[in-house]
Amino acid sequence: LSGGIARRLISTTASRSNFLKESPNAFLNKNLLNRYTRLKYDPKLVQATYVWIDGTGENVRLKDRVLNKIPEKPEDCPDWQYDGSSTYQAQGGNSDIAIVPRALYKDPFKVGEHDVIVLCDTYKPDGSPCETNHRAAMQSAYEKTKDVEPWFGLEQEYTFLDVDGRPLGWPVNGFPGPQGPYYCAAGAEKVVGRDIVEAHALACLYAGVDFAGTNAEVMPAQWEYQIGPSLGMKAADDLWVSRYILWRIAEEFGVVVTFDPKPMEGNWNGAGGHTNFSTAPMREEGGIKAVEEAIIKLSKEHPKHIKAYDPRGGKDNERRLLGRLETSSIDKFTWGVADRSCSVRIPRGVAKAQKGYLEDRRPSSNMDPYSVCNAILTTCLVD
Ligand code: ADP
Ligand code: MN
Ligand code: MN
Ligand code: MN
Ligand code: MN
Repeated sequence: LSGGIARRLISTTASRSNFLKESPNAFLNKNLLNRYTRLKYDPKLVQATYVWIDGTGENVRLKDRVLNKIPEKPEDCPDWQYDGSSTYQAQGGNSDIAIVPRALYKDPFKVGEHDVIVLCDTYKPDGSPCETNHRAAMQSAYEKTKDVEPWFGLEQEYTFLDVDGRPLGWPVNGFPGPQGPYYCAAGAEKVVGRDIVEAHALACLYAGVDFAGTNAEVMPAQWEYQIGPSLGMKAADDLWVSRYILWRIAEEFGVVVTFDPKPMEGNWNGAGGHTNFSTAPMREEGGIKAVEEAIIKLSKEHPKHIKAYDPRGGKDNERRLLGRLETSSIDKFTWGVADRSCSVRIPRGVAKAQKGYLEDRRPSSNMDPYSVCNAILTTCLVD
């Protein structure tokens, strides 16, 4: 076994590998649940799944509660709390972390017409945001910049793994043929896990995520989907909810999803979280000038952005931003038109129309979109 996540998954789960291997999730008879989903209960009762980011900054946690009123906005859902000592966010003695509802989605997993996913952010006992709550900072940057209507479009790349930590469908001993035939491909010998991809798209559309598309990626078992473009907080909120939905659906299929930015070392593409950004002036006639001004500002803050673009302050991107395999070098800021080896790319269509948006290719696939979007708003519009 080679490769970052494969090795790490196995080392961190060495004692649990039997748990994973023998996990019955995929093999339980899902039809049995249907007997209970037919049961009628008080239609005023709503099941709400509260979702929040834990102390890793890259995983979510959730718990369910029953509300006795249909919520129409996040504020209609009560604040709640959880045990932060079990999510790497607190010591046992003072362990309550407060969660505050921020965005509502229709729940694609529960059967009630009004059941919801409640996306929350997290606060310490003294009222300050938790270390991994980057939403609070982005919200305040957005308040300062909403006049120019910032839009974000997020590309989420990810990889399916089998429960043994190898990419799904890869031979147990050895490797698939080299990259080339897999990107945007069709065919059983080229593509793995499309059922999960399609189920995920449907569930996100149902939920109210601004889901915008999917494609098979360059490395076999790797995929991408896109969110947006969406105004303000919406793309970042939607990305977290779409990740949660993907984990849940893959759980049912008995497949592991990793957002690790370099699941396999060697000549295998890593995974990115390309972040596309525009403002009203960029989208107007001749907006290319505003696009270029933003790129010049970004070029002066490269180290600050690398720090914000993965959950380990740049450590994860050290494995991915190698200056080859469609990535720029981590040490140097570069930009260009239609160039996928740059830090920031102006898509050809934007150069042609002389207006539109820029694509920041540096964020890793496991980035926190609040942290990335906050850095972009701050550098390009606030500072
Ligand atoms: P590629 O793989 O070539 O980078 P994709 O189609 O995967 O292209 O992604 C394009 C992204 O650009 C999408 O996430 C989309 O939401 C985003 N986008 C398009 N127009 C804008 C815009 N005006 N502002 C911000 N993002 C945008
Ligand atoms: Mn308890
Ligand atoms: Mn893309
Ligand atoms: Mn891609
Ligand atoms: Mn892209």
